[in-house]
Amino acid sequence: MLDPEPKQGTKRKKFPVSALPGYPPDCDHTHTHERRTTFQACRHLGQCTNTCPCVKSRVTCEKSCICSPSCPRRWRGCTCKREGKACTLENKCICAKANRECDVDLCHTCGAVEALDPKNRYNDAFSNNCCQNVALQRDMPKRTLLGRSAVAGFGLFVGEDVKGGVFLGEYKGEVITTEEADRRGKLYDRRGVSFLFNLNSNQVIDATRAGNKFRYVNHSAKKPNCYARVFMANCTHRIGMFARRDLVAGEELFFDYG
Ligand SMILES: [Zn+2]
Ligand SMILES: [Zn+2]
Ligand SMILES: [Zn+2]
Ligand SMILES: [Zn+2]
Ligand SMILES: [Zn+2]
Repeated sequence: MLDPEPKQGTKRKKFPVSALPGYPPDCDHTHTHERRTTFQACRHLGQCTNTCPCVKSRVTCEKSCICSPSCPRRWRGCTCKREGKACTLENKCICAKANRECDVDLCHTCGAVEALDPKNRYNDAFSNNCCQNVALQRDMPKRTLLGRSAVAGFGLFVGEDVKGGVFLGEYKGEVITTEEADRRGKLYDRRGVSFLFNLNSNQVIDATRAGNKFRYVNHSAKKPNCYARVFMANCTHRIGMFARRDLVAGEELFFDYG
C-alpha cells in the first residue's frame, strides 16, 4: 500500500500533535488523515461530550454536524484575504496547513466561492488571483497523456508545461475498507502490480478497475517529479497529485511510492 508524503519542493510545516491553533487540544487528529478515519458527523443536539463521535475520534466538528452552532470544535475555515495567490502554505492559510481544501460555506474572504463558480472555471487569469486551495473541488486537471514508459509498461506524461506546485489531477478509484484492501493486496502482490493508495486509517483507494490515468504514474525514489497529498474537501478525503518542480511538456511523471 502506498502512502507518499511530499518530502521536498514544499515548505510544509506540520502542526505538532495537539496544537491546532484556536481549537480544543483534543482535535489533534483532524489534519492527520493517516491517524483518523473517514468523517462521520455527530448526530446529537447540544454540546459535544465524551460519547460524541467527533470527540472520540479527536477531530474537529464539521458543517454537517448537528451539535450546537457555537460548538468550539466546529471547523471555522480561514480568514485569508483575496490577494494574488491566496490560501497557500507559504501564506499560512490554516485550511492549507490542516490538509483541507477551503470551504465555500466557511471561507468567506479568500475567494473560494468565486474560484469555484462555474463561470470562472476556465479562466486561469481569474483563478490565479484568488484562493489556490480548491484544486480538487475545481477539478481542472492538467493535460496528461498515456504512453509507453521509459521504465516499465505504460506511463503518464505531461502534455503541457506546468509550474512547480501546480495541481495535475486527482488520483481516483474505488474507495474500499482497509480490510478489503488487505484481501485484494494479497492477490495484487502475486500479480506484482498494485494500485492501492491509503486514504485514511480505515479507507483505501483501489484504482485497479475503477481508476483514472493517474494510476499509471510510475515509481521513482530517486527522481520523483510529482507528489500526492491527501486533502479533506467538503468532509471527504481525496488525493491530489501535484508537480514537485517545473515540468516540460513530454516529461514522464514519477512519484515516490515510499
Ligand atoms: Zn458532537
Ligand atoms: Zn461533530
Ligand atoms: Zn485561506
Ligand atoms: Zn479556507
Ligand atoms: Zn481559500
